[in-house]
Amino acid sequence: MDLAQYIRNVPDFPKAGIQFKDITTLLLHPEAFREVVRRLEERYRSDPPDAVAAIDARGFVFGAALCHTMGLPLVLVRKKGKLPADTVSATYDLEYGSETIEMHRDAIRPGNRVVIMDDLLATGGTVAAAAGLVRQLGGKVLEAAFVIELPPLKGRERLAALDIPVFSMVSFMVA
Ligand code: AMP
Repeated sequence: MDLAQYIRNVPDFPKAGIQFKDITTLLLHPEAFREVVRRLEERYRSDPPDAVAAIDARGFVFGAALCHTMGLPLVLVRKKGKLPADTVSATYDLEYGSETIEMHRDAIRPGNRVVIMDDLLATGGTVAAAAGLVRQLGGKVLEAAFVIELPPLKGRERLAALDIPVFSMVSFMVA
């Protein structure tokens, strides 16, 4: 199945010059959503991780579906101020300003093998920060999984330098 045809491109959102890759159109097609989860399951079936850390908010959709299907623990990596218990946090730079993400301190045990899940890989800054939190808690990052990758933004290279392999399903050369 060609997943790319289910992803809507929205020019100039959230600001001029950005080509926003919208996965809500994919989610409207159950056969496409199922295909994404099927590919993830196929990827991890033979050697399942101990947990999947899913990134707020679109990473939750795919991470939750994968964990439900495979019977794996789901860790929510949230934007600052949303998690109620004791957290670890990381702040990273965006094109304009910065963002802080948090994870519950007890969500990952030392030695846990973790896959990080998000909808899209752009510069890799978000997942680099999430990987830092997993590692801070003693977890091992097996790889990062995405539905979409934007190769011109070189996130794969940035994550490779941090020893984080990338799995993605659809690449768009226009970022
Ligand atoms: P980055 O940290 O640069 O890899 O950015 C990845 C995060 O920002 C992901 O959580 C994406 O959902 C979001 N994102 C960045 N660029 C886009 C884009 N062009 N279309 C849709 N989402 C994007």
